[in-house]
Amino acid sequence: MGNRLIIGVLVIIFGCGTDQEKVRDSSKLNIVATTGMIGDAIANIVQDSAVVTSLMGPGVDPHLYKATQGDLQKLTSADVIFYNGLYLEGKMGEVLEKLGRVKPVIAIAEKVDANRLRKAEEYNDSYDPHIWFDVSLWQEAVQVASGELQKRDPDNAAFYAQNTQGFQAQLDSLHQWVKKEINVIPKSQRVLITAHDAFGYFGHAYDIEVKGLQGISTLSEYGLRDVANLVNYITDRKIKSVFLETSVSKKAINAVVQGCIDKGFEVSIGGNLYSDAMGPQNTPEGAYIGMVESNVRTIVDALK
Ligand SMILES: [Zn+2]
Repeated sequence: MGNRLIIGVLVIIFGCGTDQEKVRDSSKLNIVATTGMIGDAIANIVQDSAVVTSLMGPGVDPHLYKATQGDLQKLTSADVIFYNGLYLEGKMGEVLEKLGRVKPVIAIAEKVDANRLRKAEEYNDSYDPHIWFDVSLWQEAVQVASGELQKRDPDNAAFYAQNTQGFQAQLDSLHQWVKKEINVIPKSQRVLITAHDAFGYFGHAYDIEVKGLQGISTLSEYGLRDVANLVNYITDRKIKSVFLETSVSKKAINAVVQGCIDKGFEVSIGGNLYSDAMGPQNTPEGAYIGMVESNVRTIVDALK
């Protein structure tokens, strides 16, 4: 009887807490996304009917990112959390797992058709997480996110479905545009060399060979032999340009450029690519479509 009383009291306490939260947040769904790309997809779906916060800003490397105290507060007060998954946010795994016990925490890259995922060469049973670089695959992720949001916010479901359709139409055009643009680069020069292997899906979707010094995670090390192999490859194929990434140190690519110079071959730095993070807010590159367009223009200008 004593126990039953305590349980009754607990139910009342927790019940009240939940009700108060609902009153406070009842107007809009509070959504937190890890990367800017995911936040952008969600914002396109919900527009002004929900509050969307992205944790990782411009230049932030998700492979190395650890949740800050401020992030933990945002994650704790979120109604729904979206992240990429496939170990992209390698250092947030534990936090996300814990939150997943008390609220919806959705890994969108783990919900697309697994047959479309690339196996990661360096880790046995894992996949390349950089799915946003095949626009058509990202469209699948957008659809996953939209379905989840419609399920969790039924009042706005029709609005979300309509917005999703509009965004998908823009992504359709983007996908076709990227195909056409990359096709301008002569086949012999169609090689994309970056510090880490973020562009595997891009290469597969748009028919361009891709080489990275580090593996699919910036956590993996590269050695002098990797640099030497890449230098040989560039000098043999007479590749005009290599690329920096805004979220990765310049050191690796600079070592490759220097290695080529030492062998008497001048390779240029073709520019900065937005690999794992978007550009600054309120610039075209601060949104997913602008980020992809900027990358493609930089690649085509340097290699054509
Ligand atoms: Zn990456």
